[in-house]
Amino acid sequence: MQEKGLLIVLSGPSGVGKGTVRKELFSQHDTAFEYSVSATTRLPREGEQNGVDYFFKTREEFEEMIREDQLLEFAEFVGNYYGTPVEYVRETLDAGRDVFLEIEVQGASQVRKKFPEGLFIFLAPPSLSELENRIVTRGTETEDIIKGRMKAAREELEMMELYDYVVENDHVENAANRVKSIVVAEHCRRERV
Ligand code: 5GP
Repeated sequence: MQEKGLLIVLSGPSGVGKGTVRKELFSQHDTAFEYSVSATTRLPREGEQNGVDYFFKTREEFEEMIREDQLLEFAEFVGNYYGTPVEYVRETLDAGRDVFLEIEVQGASQVRKKFPEGLFIFLAPPSLSELENRIVTRGTETEDIIKGRMKAAREELEMMELYDYVVENDHVENAANRVKSIVVAEHCRRERV
């Protein structure tokens, strides 16, 4: 029987550079996994192409996809829907090829429930692990602001624990290379029996 492909999920806090790392990965000719193009209701940015960067949908179209169970996961992010069409993911995995999702953290948690055997990689900003320390020791913020930031930092750190690997985005090429190495290692680990 054909071995199933690996579902690779790259996620992490907003602004950490997930999209940049994904673009770096797919600009390299030896990247051997397939990119799952997401659906979104946000408008295309300059240079973005329908079906390449995203499937651009109206809110009505997107809500129909939700109703018809066409999405593996979806989330609302800054007023727009984003979601992963399930059919492409299933077909590609069944054909034995690896699929790569670049999605925000709420969506990644949904995928974890449906695909616990997936490979979950958290992209972290270089200073996240020191964030709490710095917030407390800096001492320049009001108590309320410190509390707010501590809460956000803790939530991000807690999310990190749900992932199989954490990759620090210190430099885009380094981060992309680590993601690729993790995928190679994961195949070796899973296929040794
Ligand atoms: P942008 O509008 O900058 O392209 O993307 C905004 C955020 O949505 C990014 O964090 C990106 O990773 C995330 N995103 C892109 N596609 C999907 C998707 O299919 N599902 C989810 N949950 N998030 C996505």
